[in-house]
Amino acid sequence: MFKAVLIEGNRKDQQVSLKSVDETQLPEGNVELDIVYSTLNYKDALAITGKAPIAKHYPMIPGIDFAGTVTSSSHADFKAGDQVILNGWGVGEKHWGGLAEKARVSGDWLVPLPSAFTPRQAMAIGTAGYTAMLCVMALEKHDLTPKDGEILVTGAAGGVGSVAVALLAKLGFSVTAVTGRPEEEAFLKSLGASKIMDRAELSQPGKPLAAETWAGAIDVAGSHVLANVCAGIKYQGAVAACGLAAGMDFPSTVAPFILRGVTLYGIDSVMAPKNKRLDAWQRLTELLDLSLLESLTTEVAFDEVINAAHQLMEGKVRGRVVVPIQA
Ligand code: NAP
Repeated sequence: MFKAVLIEGNRKDQQVSLKSVDETQLPEGNVELDIVYSTLNYKDALAITGKAPIAKHYPMIPGIDFAGTVTSSSHADFKAGDQVILNGWGVGEKHWGGLAEKARVSGDWLVPLPSAFTPRQAMAIGTAGYTAMLCVMALEKHDLTPKDGEILVTGAAGGVGSVAVALLAKLGFSVTAVTGRPEEEAFLKSLGASKIMDRAELSQPGKPLAAETWAGAIDVAGSHVLANVCAGIKYQGAVAACGLAAGMDFPSTVAPFILRGVTLYGIDSVMAPKNKRLDAWQRLTELLDLSLLESLTTEVAFDEVINAAHQLMEGKVRGRVVVPIQA
């Protein structure tokens, strides 16, 4: 038997609790693991609170990320004792996930734990941090450099946002951090933000075009926030959009794209190919200051993770959450 957060019931009436589960129930896969650390992402909080249909069938173990030790493997790339990480691939959505003591997955989904990181640090980064890196890589692919101007980061006090601020500042960009939590100004400046902007300035319907203010942006919010961000991007700038914290809609016009040549990059971490993941994790080892990473990380006990998911949905969690499982 092993302990896991289990979502039972159905889409309309789900129950979530920490339960003992029989190992024979583990899903198909060619690698079995002991999970050492997991984490709590926005998507995990949506799954646990039932605020969005993340669990595709029931019962489901949530957790889109884990760091673990291989206990048995018939996959050519992995053997017992290997330390690995997993991000996405539908784990925690349609395949049992990381908020559990054990997992069985396809070895194709695993990435070796980068030697620069402990399992705890890898989970402090997690899908949110790896997605922040993918967003930064999209802006780099667009050839944006610090001399082009400021980069805006929305949801800056959250998981993706806080790591994005730290990465961009490390690369020498001047970063404007958008937050609904003015009390986090000192925290955001400690990560490298040079300016703080109130989220309310971007939350209401705006004009199709606004003053050309930012060379680029990383957006976790969607909805009016993303529309206003696009409207304020400088000529031939770029936006990397990865989230929907404000909403799934995108009430924009084509004006920023056809009159200013703005490019909107869509960022998906879940199905990103392995070579892109390896690149992103390599860049994270080069760019992320480990003491800054620690400063944006909170540890939540395994038996507290259900409560923490509700707090995250209420916007009360700062930065990233790590969950020790068999640490
Ligand atoms: P998080 O830690 O909960 O952070 C989200 C942040 O968004 C909050 O901390 C808040 O920041 C801001 N926010 C909340 N409600 C908002 C609103 N109504 N308007 C504007 N901003 C709002 O979540 P996360 O893990 O960073 O994830 C952020 C988003 O990215 C989520 O939508 C998630 O699903 C998405 N995501 C997508 C991918 C992908 O592969 N595409 C991967 C990871 C995450 P402030 O308090 O600073 O305002």
